[in-house]
Amino acid sequence: MGITRIPQALLHSLTSPHDGHLGKQILFFVYVLTFSALLGIVQPTVMLGLEYLLGLAAIAALTVLTSLAYPRVSSTHLAWILLPVADVLAVAPLRDAFRVEAGTVTLLAFVPALWAAYCWRYLGAALATAAVTLAFAVPTLLREYPEIDGTLIVRTLIILLVVLQVTLLVAMATSRAARERARTAEALRERTDLLCRTADQEQLLTNVIDSLSVGIVVVDKDGHDVLMNSAQQQLHALALPVGDPDPSEDRLEVRYPESSIPIPPRARPVRRAVERETFTNYLVSLGPLDGPRRTLSTAARQIVDVRGERDGAVILFSDVSDFVEVAKRQRQSTADVSHEMRTPLTSILGYLDLTMEAEELPSTAREHLEVAERNAEKLLQYVEDLLEGLSVSPDEDSVALVPARLGDLARETCETLRPRAVEGEIDLRCTVETEASLLLDPPRMTQVLSNLVSNALKYTPAGGRVEVRVSEAPEALEVRVSDTGIGMAPEEQANLFMEYYRTTAVREGRIPGYGLGLSITQRIVRAHGGQISVRSAQGEGSTFTVRLPRERLLAPRR
Ligand code: ADP
Repeated sequence: MGITRIPQALLHSLTSPHDGHLGKQILFFVYVLTFSALLGIVQPTVMLGLEYLLGLAAIAALTVLTSLAYPRVSSTHLAWILLPVADVLAVAPLRDAFRVEAGTVTLLAFVPALWAAYCWRYLGAALATAAVTLAFAVPTLLREYPEIDGTLIVRTLIILLVVLQVTLLVAMATSRAARERARTAEALRERTDLLCRTADQEQLLTNVIDSLSVGIVVVDKDGHDVLMNSAQQQLHALALPVGDPDPSEDRLEVRYPESSIPIPPRARPVRRAVERETFTNYLVSLGPLDGPRRTLSTAARQIVDVRGERDGAVILFSDVSDFVEVAKRQRQSTADVSHEMRTPLTSILGYLDLTMEAEELPSTAREHLEVAERNAEKLLQYVEDLLEGLSVSPDEDSVALVPARLGDLARETCETLRPRAVEGEIDLRCTVETEASLLLDPPRMTQVLSNLVSNALKYTPAGGRVEVRVSEAPEALEVRVSDTGIGMAPEEQANLFMEYYRTTAVREGRIPGYGLGLSITQRIVRAHGGQISVRSAQGEGSTFTVRLPRERLLAPRR
């Protein structure tokens, strides 16, 4: 043991309640020796007397015995309790030698008595008090017998009670400290366990998230990136402009898949999620115009913490390029087949017409031909509808932008569809609040309005109301088409703009349609740099809102 470690070891042996018995014993011996030396200076005859030397020898012998037993007997062995008890008994001859200073010498017995209470608590306190009784009280009473007066009894009792009280106090304090220590150790252990578990879970989560093929971005409530898994890092790399590894958000190559027009920063998936939007199946294309590009279906959900407060958002990016490609080819082949059917069907109708013009036709044959003509016309109408629905997707070139008034287009659409509203007993209203002109493709925008209004008429029962309203919003020109029709469930709204998607009620109610109108509508709106959204409640009605950016606005006139 290095010299510097001696005070440390000494301190440990004095303060430890479980071991350090040798240290405590040596210290007690040194203490008694010092005490004896001081008293010896004033009363050398007493100190050198047989009785005193016997007591001193007993303590010295106990110290030697301790140093011999110490390496062999475990410090937690109960036998060690006998050591302070024996020390208390060994103090008795010292005290008896100093009859005049007996009271002062008795104080020496407090050292081993406190040690016993400190290390063995209540058992130590009880044994130390018993030892004091045996070593001091009993001999005093026996010596004075039979002249034991009240003062002697009180003096003896006081010593016993003080020893008992002090040792009990030490035992209690030590027990309490031990309990506190155990509690703290337990709390520390639990916290360490928790930290380990959390670290394990975090590791597991990171592994799982990194093994997913779906790109994941998590942002905190201020919009800062918190997590981006490896799939998303690869997708993100696609969106980097050439030669700029760390561009600002608006420089990332994020485009509308149909038109390849860059998506304005405000309409990009992460920004929409940061702005507290929740959405599903929002299609974007990542990559430069002339390089590798992927089409991604994005979705966002808001994260809420345990207190129910918004804590950020998670945005998912699934690569649907292959699916989109297959759907495109499917659409093309359906369009080709429909196109092929149109010519023979028109020819059938022509010949049926010619045949029915013949006057000598028997009446039953005429009736049969009329049925055939009706069905052929129906079939042709289906083919026409299908072809309209499948019309080649509007791309950047197919949107021919010219100045036009959205309000005029809305009025015209309502007038065109009014006969259908009258037939369906639906109150169709058109409110134009702004006469602003903007750059748009009038036939395409008319297709948008007519899809929305005819859907509203189709999915609103007789007696209902459909309202078209054109108005100016802070950053856009808005058209709202609202109805009091069948509406739809929230989970259905998320898929509404997907090709061929139709809600359950519509499919079960056998209302005719192909589920293509809204996807085309969305593509046209996006090709104009705008957005379309829906709010609907089942059984109450729906509102479709088209927003066209103000940048396209031309000198507004009211
Ligand atoms: P289609 O009307 O030919 O089925 P759309 O793409 O226009 O195809 O619409 C897709 C689906 O959205 C419809 O089948 C219907 O379920 C639902 N939908 C569209 N507009 C409305 C509306 N105004 N009210 C209720 N449901 C609607």
